[in-house]
Amino acid sequence: MPVVFIEGGSMSKSKKWVALALAVALVLAVGLTGCASKTDEGTTGETTGGETATVELKTIEAGKLLVGSDTAFPPFESMNGDVAEGFDVDLMKAIGEKLGLEVTFQTEIFDTLIPTLKAGGKFDVIASGMTIKPDRQLEIDFTDPYYDSNQSLVMKKGTAYTGPEQLAGKKIGVQSGTTGEAWAKENVEGATLVPFKNATDAFAALQAGNVDAVVNDLPVSTELLKDDDRGMEIVAQIPTGEQYGFGVSKDNPDLTAAINKALGELKADGTYNEIYQKWFGILPE
Ligand code: GLN
Repeated sequence: MPVVFIEGGSMSKSKKWVALALAVALVLAVGLTGCASKTDEGTTGETTGGETATVELKTIEAGKLLVGSDTAFPPFESMNGDVAEGFDVDLMKAIGEKLGLEVTFQTEIFDTLIPTLKAGGKFDVIASGMTIKPDRQLEIDFTDPYYDSNQSLVMKKGTAYTGPEQLAGKKIGVQSGTTGEAWAKENVEGATLVPFKNATDAFAALQAGNVDAVVNDLPVSTELLKDDDRGMEIVAQIPTGEQYGFGVSKDNPDLTAAINKALGELKADGTYNEIYQKWFGILPE
């Protein structure tokens, strides 16, 4: 509140009253203007000085952002003991910081992520290397894309792969409900698709000889074979041109918008590149 000094001494009694009344009016006017501008800021959610103004976001637990994820998909998400780590995890945490929300990951089978998010009450966001696809967009909203991906075909080391026709009569391991499974269904004739609950189980089955090939997202296959190929190799890269996005309920468009805004800021301030380099060893193209 401004302090108004009223000069005494030479003023007549009535002048003093006028001056006092004016001072009171001035104090009131300044006070009211101050209040009005504050209200505007809070409701518009405008950016002030590069910082995101706090917009009241609707999440399951106040102050928290609960994330559902198939945490067997390195380098995007995997469990290190009982702590989730990976590109999606770091990116989601950086987003949470921008939004003033504490991020917690919980493990969920990939195929149940969308129905569980839709049912509500368990998590606010899906961060699971999930490809943005029209059929999924009928069920949930996606944020802006945050990673470009393709598929890969993995077989026993030394297999001379010539094309999908070679897979006829073979067993192909896929992760249930994924774009890898969809690719195999559409592009391979006469093979038996063997569904697994996650990518690591599909690779274990290939190593054990229970399936002849695995179709899986390329960056994850690369990561899973990087330090120890366990007698397997990527025999073909399949350019499906996929893009990953975070999934949000259609009932929470404010959250989608807030994540998009945070993602844009993280790309602009270099944090996205830092996280990308940490998990992929290179900068994005
Ligand atoms: N990107 C693939 C999909 O969306 C696989 C995702 C995953 O297995 N986590 O279907």
